Amino acid sequence: MSSIKLKDVTKRYGDGYEAVKHLDLDIEDGEFMILVGPSGCGKSTALRMVAGLEDISEGDLEIGGRRVNDKAPKDRDIAMVFQNYALYPHMTVRENMGFALKLAKVDEAEIKRKVDEAAKTLDLTEHLERKPANLSGGQRQRVAMGRAIVREPAAFLMDEPLSNLDAKLRVQMRTEVSRIQQSLGVTTIYVTHDQTEAMTLGDRVAVMRAGVLQQVDTPRELYEHP
Ligand code: ADP
Ligand code: ADP
Repeated sequence: MSSIKLKDVTKRYGDGYEAVKHLDLDIEDGEFMILVGPSGCGKSTALRMVAGLEDISEGDLEIGGRRVNDKAPKDRDIAMVFQNYALYPHMTVRENMGFALKLAKVDEAEIKRKVDEAAKTLDLTEHLERKPANLSGGQRQRVAMGRAIVREPAAFLMDEPLSNLDAKLRVQMRTEVSRIQQSLGVTTIYVTHDQTEAMTLGDRVAVMRAGVLQQVDTPRELYEHP
């Protein structure tokens, strides 16, 4: 139900620069798609168009079979995690994770149930009553993911979510991210410039260069036929 389809999508910025050119990409329901390429190749622009944070200049975007070009981010049923995630420092982990649901006027018992469930998936149950300042970088990153997943979005969009972590933690979190994505089974697009990350995390890898999609393959196929 929540496939993501980009059909001949182009992004032209105000100065005429084409950051994404005629992008065709089909992401299946539940699939973990990596978008990789060097800095400036248009990855974030592509992701931001899916999120609704950038207008699409040409082409169509479908989420769950519906054209969403003109829908606001909040009406696209997606959740995003960025590298510069900001948790609310005065709130506990539980309050951080439940905040979006509270804003949406979901009732307290339901919020508790959803936060407890997400905390279990993210291995945060022990930390629910703590403040972000008292958590490790990896735990904070998981809270940021938790905040996104409690809303049970149709799609999960991540832009270099691990790039602020130190090298050791980054490697640990790769395994975590794969495990979490698999247990949620949520359609995911994950942007990175890191080739190792690209080859180890997802179901398929889309390689971009200078605004153009070069190749879409499984990590194994890419490894054998780069
Ligand atoms: P606007 O033109 O809509 O006011 P800004 O100039 O504030 O937008 O830029 C919005 C974002 O895009 C900022 O994060 C900015 O750093 C980035 N940005 C703007 N122009 C460029 C560019 N030519 N190359 C890369 N990033 C840019
Ligand atoms: P990546 O995520 O692959 O590093 P981006 O999508 O951020 O690449 O940027 C792709 C290209 O678009 C870059 O050449 C960048 O300079 C340009 N760009 C990004 N934002 C803007 C903007 N607001 N205005 C003009 N050009 C931009």
